[in-house]
Amino acid sequence: MIFDCKASFSSHKKVSFTRLQATPQIRMFSSLACCASRAALHVLKSATRPSKPAKIPRFWHQTLAAARLPTVGGSAVARQAQVLDHKRLLQVEWDDGSYSFYPFTWLRDNCQCPLCMLQSAQARRLLLTDLDVHTGMDQVQISENNKVSITWPDQHSSEFEPEWLKKRCFSPEARQARQEELFLNEREFWDSGWQIPMADFEEVLHDDKAALVWLLALRRVGIVYLKGAPAEQGQVAKLSQRIGYLRLTFYGHTWQVQDKPMANNVAYTSGKLSLHTDYPALHNPPGVQFLHCLQQAVQGGESEVVDGFHMAELLRREDPEAFNILSSLYVDYTDSGSDYCDFNVQSKNRIIDVDSEGRVVRINYNNATRDSVLDLPLDQVQPFYSALKSFVELMNRPENMVTYRMEPGDLVTFDNWRLLHGRRHYSSGTRTLRHLEGAYLDWDEVMSRLRILRKAVHGER
Ligand SMILES: [Zn+2]
Repeated sequence: MIFDCKASFSSHKKVSFTRLQATPQIRMFSSLACCASRAALHVLKSATRPSKPAKIPRFWHQTLAAARLPTVGGSAVARQAQVLDHKRLLQVEWDDGSYSFYPFTWLRDNCQCPLCMLQSAQARRLLLTDLDVHTGMDQVQISENNKVSITWPDQHSSEFEPEWLKKRCFSPEARQARQEELFLNEREFWDSGWQIPMADFEEVLHDDKAALVWLLALRRVGIVYLKGAPAEQGQVAKLSQRIGYLRLTFYGHTWQVQDKPMANNVAYTSGKLSLHTDYPALHNPPGVQFLHCLQQAVQGGESEVVDGFHMAELLRREDPEAFNILSSLYVDYTDSGSDYCDFNVQSKNRIIDVDSEGRVVRINYNNATRDSVLDLPLDQVQPFYSALKSFVELMNRPENMVTYRMEPGDLVTFDNWRLLHGRRHYSSGTRTLRHLEGAYLDWDEVMSRLRILRKAVHGER
């Protein structure tokens, strides 16, 4: 089912949304969520794939159905355990004939007994000062209840559930699957041909399956549109309580996007806002943003979004030098004024933030708060501007941008570490004043709720 937003502007294509439904695709999302599809990771890493992603209209009805669960976790039976003294490894043979290897030190460090673990907190009691990192292993056996039972040289004994062990297998495939299950770092890229997924505000608030589908989509594609919220203040706070708590910043617990006299932020005017991420003036910018439309302008004020991770990968392919510059040089950002209280913040961020393996993990770009202080050697200034220009031109191409118009009651939720968003100029009328209410959350809290919902809906995890 496709929801068509009545877009009143003519220069852009009519934007459409795809409705998220709780029952059918939740299975697909969940299996995808714990499936370490190397193909998807490849999209994130690769510099050789074609520049246009596959069109993915209503993709959860199609591609997600094909996802298969990895054979990590689930029921595991240990057939045999053998001490490899010379390597100081325990070798476990599983009933499917595969093997896993566990270092002695790691096993001793993670003993699950009540002396070594505080069961009520699932936290380690064993002190590192008491851990012999060169420990040997006296004996190992598979007990009658299929546990791996170890006796250490000091006669301390440990018992491990086979499933627990298999989940923590050190093979590259198992590690990758486990990390994907924990962090859901696989992303689906999109461009202007894509439809923003949509869900019902009240369903997300009251139904765990709907909330899970919402958060899985938010993580995977970076933006989900919620319809049907009351057109009154307080809804973003209510939605944040569904997760845990919101992120307080100098702009308050929640903030009102309106045309304000003596605005302390360019967002609080009626002017055009070019594509940006919020708050790169903080070293840890908010991970997730909620924007709720209470009142729309009579004319203008359409929203624009691009997939920043996708744009960064395109830049890496099309202009590698620009990518290298933006992912290595630190840019100063500044923001000062008074709102929740008075503030004067400064930060240094890379516009394209990459992790130790070169994967794009965050976009930090807001032209309004980019500082005039530019802490670069003279000869790097011009290359920096050229690189930034190249990135901005790329993201402003019509084929990369999705445009939509919010109506009162609409609430958009998006990944502020990934998406760049903007707004077209609007006429500040006297009768109706455009008014959005916004709030921030952080990804740690959102991912925490996602894992809890996944466990509540599916039981096992
Ligand atoms: Zn112990």
